[in-house]
Amino acid sequence: MQIFRRCSPEKQQCGPNRGRSPQGPGQRQKAGLSVCSGLLLFALIMLVVSANGCHFQDRVEHTPPASLPIWRQLTFFRFQSQSPILQRFARLQPEILQYVRELDKRPYQDSGLSATARLELQQALQQLPPRLQRALQERLVQISFIKGFMSSGMTDYVVGPDGLYAVMFINADIIGQSMSALLTAKERTMYKPDQSGWQVQIKTSPRMSALTYILTHEAVHVLDLKERLTPYVEPSVIYWQEKQPPAAEIELFTDLWREYMQPAKAADFALRSKVAFYGFRGGPLLTAAQLPQLYSDLQKSPWLSAYSTIIWPEDLAELMTYASFSRNPSFQYSIELWQAGQRKQVYQPLQFPGVKARLARLQELQSLD
Ligand SMILES: [Zn+2]
Repeated sequence: MQIFRRCSPEKQQCGPNRGRSPQGPGQRQKAGLSVCSGLLLFALIMLVVSANGCHFQDRVEHTPPASLPIWRQLTFFRFQSQSPILQRFARLQPEILQYVRELDKRPYQDSGLSATARLELQQALQQLPPRLQRALQERLVQISFIKGFMSSGMTDYVVGPDGLYAVMFINADIIGQSMSALLTAKERTMYKPDQSGWQVQIKTSPRMSALTYILTHEAVHVLDLKERLTPYVEPSVIYWQEKQPPAAEIELFTDLWREYMQPAKAADFALRSKVAFYGFRGGPLLTAAQLPQLYSDLQKSPWLSAYSTIIWPEDLAELMTYASFSRNPSFQYSIELWQAGQRKQVYQPLQFPGVKARLARLQELQSLD
């Protein structure tokens, strides 16, 4: 089983980044929308480091870090796996607040949990399928809200004696938003408007909250850290994850993805390399005129969103999130293309043949139970 492509001594190329242009994290754009900025940032770091040779992977994969920040150690938290997940909400400790401020170069302040936010969080937690609930129960050490966070949510790792744990950051500003509004705004960061007038709109079941979407998506990352459904969640955790036996679901990613950021040739399509959200990778790299081609290609692919095509942990997070939502047969998810005030095209990603096959495989594996 290919876990990750190692450096080729002959070609001196690092696998995950071949053929891609390094971009700096400084090109990050205002978001308040993005999911998982942490993973994307690591992807960007990989791009930058790979430009200097292949030593990055050797260092990260096989040797433990000389030291971990205090907050990345489980002992920093008074973690009790039996405590209700809702009680894991906490104001950010100074060490973690400093970390996220430096990550995004923003003077963040953390946020308390308003009564509305608490209720939304409670509802979102209740909707999680059993396996994601267990993952949070056993491995989520803290959940915190940040005002004006550049992303909608972010999951980061913490190291314990028996594997990886997680802290979760949620943008306090998404409280009260619908999932449709959040996803539409996010999708529109992917392209520049032009004279073609094409515009995308994402529609999901109207009662779905943005927080339900974000919490479910982030919970999948926690599960991935815990049980290794993808070859590794991010380059920084390879040292710990390579010791873990993979979960059965890994077959869905080792076959489809050649590298962390590079799908197998048969699954790839031309405009995928231009998919960039929130200004990452110097984006937006697409124009509105390219939207019909993008979604036409996506329809023939194994992915149910453009976001899924970026790196394998996002593919997993999106796939399992929608697998969870579609347990309710009335759940709706469509991608609409509009032009001059008229709806011209409607895509139903859950009906894409490649997507249906993967969702069916998750069901066979009882991945949510
Ligand atoms: Zn994610």
